[in-house]
Amino acid sequence: MPIDATQPYDDQNIFAKILRGEIPATRLYEDAYAIAFPDIAPQAPTHILVIPKGAYVSWDDLSARGSDAEIAGFVRAVGKVARDAGLVAPGYRLLANTGLDSHQEVPHLHVHIFAGRPLGPLLA
Ligand code: C5P
Repeated sequence: MPIDATQPYDDQNIFAKILRGEIPATRLYEDAYAIAFPDIAPQAPTHILVIPKGAYVSWDDLSARGSDAEIAGFVRAVGKVARDAGLVAPGYRLLANTGLDSHQEVPHLHVHIFAGRPLGPLLA
């Protein structure tokens, strides 16, 4: 079910539980601001999720309420995950669904990294 990105943060969401270690996930990367783990239902040969450690519902929420350090740290983490996975030369796509029309399902900000095959035109 898509979520309304204007809702208050729900600390029982699945990614909050992953962050707290209550639900297992393979941490591909972790720093002070973010963790990355494989998507459980990959839609490309490489499909990684990067999430901030802070309690933010969406891209909108982080960009509005996050500190400069959190925003910079998160953006740098997304780039580093892709770089360290060797994705820059073949190329990759970032996606951050926000709210109902985008079909955001998990109410904790996550950036999808898709790679590993030609991805075609956006929204194809
Ligand atoms: O952007 P959106 O909210 O639609 O994407 C949620 C993503 O979280 C989906 O790609 C889904 O496969 C993934 N997911 C996951 N592990 C879970 C629950 C959802 O990787 N336990």
